[in-house]
Amino acid sequence: MTNSSSLPNHLRNIRHVFVDETMQDSPITQRVRERLASTSHADIPWTTLPSGSDRVEFDQGKDQALYLKEYKGKFLRFCPGTRAYHCCGYRIIHFGENCPMRCSYCILQAYFQDRILKIWANQQDLFSELGDAFGADRNKRYRVGTGEFTDSLALEHLTGYAGDMIEFLGDYDNVALELKSKIVDLSWMDSVKRPDRILPAWSLNAPFVNEHEEFDVSTLKERLNAAKVCADAGFRVCLHFDPIIHYPGWKEGYAEIIDTIFDYLSPADIAYMSLGSFRCMPQLTPIIADNFPDTTYIYNEFVSGLDGKARLLRPLRVEQFQFMVNRLRSHGMDKQLYFCMESTEVWKEVFGYAPSDFGGLGKHLMAQAFGE
Ligand code: SF4
Repeated sequence: MTNSSSLPNHLRNIRHVFVDETMQDSPITQRVRERLASTSHADIPWTTLPSGSDRVEFDQGKDQALYLKEYKGKFLRFCPGTRAYHCCGYRIIHFGENCPMRCSYCILQAYFQDRILKIWANQQDLFSELGDAFGADRNKRYRVGTGEFTDSLALEHLTGYAGDMIEFLGDYDNVALELKSKIVDLSWMDSVKRPDRILPAWSLNAPFVNEHEEFDVSTLKERLNAAKVCADAGFRVCLHFDPIIHYPGWKEGYAEIIDTIFDYLSPADIAYMSLGSFRCMPQLTPIIADNFPDTTYIYNEFVSGLDGKARLLRPLRVEQFQFMVNRLRSHGMDKQLYFCMESTEVWKEVFGYAPSDFGGLGKHLMAQAFGE
């Protein structure tokens, strides 16, 4: 834990903590209390909520609240992919909702309209469900992640949740855990028993997109530097280009970040890397326009995909993918590359093969995750 007197930049807007009355003495609540106590946020108010409250009143402009909640739903879920495109078969450990950072393209804006960052404080229930699932058949392998409804590490500084999860999963060598983030917090490294089962992951984008569309996040170089620290410590990392955005100057921008990756990492350090073109549910566009009035890429030409989401016209997507894949291949990347939510036709046009040629995307990524 840290003794620093100020919270990291992305947590500075947290101004209130809510806690379910049943969770007041939970280890996570105690840890958050202790960690906040040594910061400039030591005096923020705490409110205890009766069990089962499903509405928290909090609306204070840009301020955010942290809610330590007793969660009653399923913790282990399937990634909400769609049958219409090749999905990667990822499983999600659902440990909280919402994110303190702000990216203009973030889907979470459509899911959560408030500024309440929720963490499931009943960790024992989560671990008991995971233990039942992962322990039932030790020969069955799982590729899991925590970064679907939140950023895997955004609240780590206060909660230490990823560290706890890693410690718990240390007993399950049939599970590979990916921690996907846009910030740098490597405090979880101390809890790792098997570096080959933990996949630290960072999302990357063209520098222009990072500067204009992502706020309160770590810089691209900070993320790459963290990836290098992990690689030097024996981890393989994952990188994700999602969403790839079509903007004037995209070729130079994506070329620059791709070339920069290999100043920090070699292809052997990278377990896998996804490429996904910007996709948008119809209800997200007006939210982006409202929250990020300077954003222009939402006015590009889109078609409605088989999943009902708007996506860039196929020739433009293919042009961007081909450019990036060629550049990545020139640096020695190959079988680690995959598309998030694309059709067989696009796979063939860009890669020259389809997931069925190697037994399906889920199987392929499982092998990559387990280092085979
Ligand atoms: S860091 Fe990820 S989860 Fe957070 S706002 Fe950006 S895209 Fe959304």
